[in-house]
Amino acid sequence: MAYAYDPQNIFAKILRGEIPCTKVHETPHSLAFHDINPQAPHHVLVIPKGPYVTFDHFAAEASDAELADFTRAVGRVAELTGCAEAAGGAGWRLLSNAGADAHQEVPHMHVHVCGGRFLGRMLNVPE
Ligand code: 5GP
Repeated sequence: MAYAYDPQNIFAKILRGEIPCTKVHETPHSLAFHDINPQAPHHVLVIPKGPYVTFDHFAAEASDAELADFTRAVGRVAELTGCAEAAGGAGWRLLSNAGADAHQEVPHMHVHVCGGRFLGRMLNVPE
């Protein structure tokens, strides 16, 4: 199945500079910025600059350079927040929602880097 990327999604607009973000980190292929509605004291979104819809789309079609850049950008963000153990923190969580069942709201591939408090168990399953 082909992935259909909508260039009018909000993160595409952030990448084009059409709407602002609070930047945390930027690399040649990735951008990290604060989530507008944080769910933890530290809540940063990391996105690839390329037009990918979901993590599986990114994994299937991104170049090795993009994949490596993104992975290192996520690790760097965990350090920059201070949540990474190497930075003296107590841990953090990496999460990526893909598709309707995961309640993905923005159809541009992104991961959430969250930390700064105890995050509890991984999933909050609805009744
Ligand atoms: P999803 O549910 O797609 O994994 O998460 C999308 C995230 O994007 C949400 O946590 C939401 O708060 C965040 N978000 C939505 N619109 C904006 C925006 O315009 N700017 C920023 N910084 N975050 C946004």
